[in-house]
Amino acid sequence: MAKRITVAIDGPAGAGKSTLARRLAARLGFLYIDTGAMYRAVALWAGRAGVSWDDRSGLEQLALQADIELTPEGLVVLNGEDVSAAIRQPEMSHAASVVSAIPGVRRALVIKQQRMGEANSCVMEGRDIGTVVFPEAEVKIYLDASPEERARRRVKELETRGIAARLDEVFEEMKQRDERDSTRPDSPLRQAPDAIYIDSSGLDENQVEEALLRIVRERTSNGKEVQR
Ligand code: C5P
Repeated sequence: MAKRITVAIDGPAGAGKSTLARRLAARLGFLYIDTGAMYRAVALWAGRAGVSWDDRSGLEQLALQADIELTPEGLVVLNGEDVSAAIRQPEMSHAASVVSAIPGVRRALVIKQQRMGEANSCVMEGRDIGTVVFPEAEVKIYLDASPEERARRRVKELETRGIAARLDEVFEEMKQRDERDSTRPDSPLRQAPDAIYIDSSGLDENQVEEALLRIVRERTSNGKEVQR
């Protein structure tokens, strides 16, 4: 019987991880797990509950208690409520980056992520999947793009959701977020030594999807069907 397969995709903000991971999972028939959505959900709850950003143990408690479900339809459900739209508000990017630097929050969410991923073949994306969450993943990808390209993509994505954004502001916000994510002591954004680096600048989504699919097939079953 073919074995369970984990595809880990890490990289900075705006590199196209979510779109590509979702598409790749659909092509392979694997579960898609967006770990950034989980940090965003905890940040949303903290904001609503009035827990201060420097209350480390309060934030850890929320992360432990949060009932987070990622549905096959792509919804993010927090404690029974659909928060898919609320967690995508621009201020939630910053808030998620702040709460994700707290080791207790990471510990709580990494356990949930490992539970979600260990039962099925999955494509899991985030910042520390190949380094911390699934260091034994069969396939590891580090997806990158130039900072300018990533900011342009983010502005476009916000516009499609009806949110006006200025390129220079988005560029600056992403720079600060990547800096925080890459320099935090616990599980910083890093390319795993055995991850394949892909620079998606100048490539369209179809090209990146095909490249990812090729890598998964080469690394897993020489092009044969892999188990779902
Ligand atoms: O991927 P996304 O931009 O939705 O993630 C929001 C924030 O959550 C990131 O900037 C990062 O601080 C944090 N995150 C993380 N580890 C992950 C996924 C996301 O620290 N595995």
